[in-house]
Amino acid sequence: MKLTIVYDNEIYNKEASVEKDWGFSCLIETRDDTLLFDTGTKGRVLLNNMNELSIDPGRINKIVISHEHQDHSGGLVALASVVEDAELYRLGRGTPGETIKLTTVKKPQKITTTVWTTGRLKGSPVDEQSLVLNGKNGWYVLAGCSHPGVKQIVDASRKIGKVVGLLGGLHDFDEFSLLEDLDFVGPAHCTKHKKKIYELFPKISSACGVGKIIEI
Ligand SMILES: [Zn+2]
Ligand SMILES: [Zn+2]
Repeated sequence: MKLTIVYDNEIYNKEASVEKDWGFSCLIETRDDTLLFDTGTKGRVLLNNMNELSIDPGRINKIVISHEHQDHSGGLVALASVVEDAELYRLGRGTPGETIKLTTVKKPQKITTTVWTTGRLKGSPVDEQSLVLNGKNGWYVLAGCSHPGVKQIVDASRKIGKVVGLLGGLHDFDEFSLLEDLDFVGPAHCTKHKKKIYELFPKISSACGVGKIIEI
């Protein structure tokens, strides 16, 4: 499974003419499906970054919105104009186009054979879902902003499989001992304590940003 960060507050691949902007989006390519987790804030930036990274958005057949904040759902309308017959998994209601079929997520559920959602988790100020991805060596948690708290997200993910990695927006997360038994941490987007995570876990942590590719 291949993950590519296509929208983030920082740029990772400085060779590509991508833009950074507050928000998050990550493309997930499995053997059978192409999923987009979150859509960033601005559709124009989302589509431009995908183009610069040689990603054809028309291939996306599943879209997941982690939570109903603009920096995660803002690009959805623009995405809908270039995607055909996709399934949308979100906590709220509403679909941006007739060809996009809505599933309102409540409980943990399988989205593809190797991709699960934690289901709706209580968070402040909003509820959120995270994805749990079955990589070669275990399961990786992909989070949007972690409003429910990383502990609650990881605990929910452990019910799906053995968690070995964590990636995405970790907000003001500082319970660093939770990361001790992981093989990979990729703090992205709104993560406040990125530097501290790199310092404490130099062997397993990795800088993220637009253009970062992670094979799991
Ligand atoms: Zn948020
Ligand atoms: Zn956010």
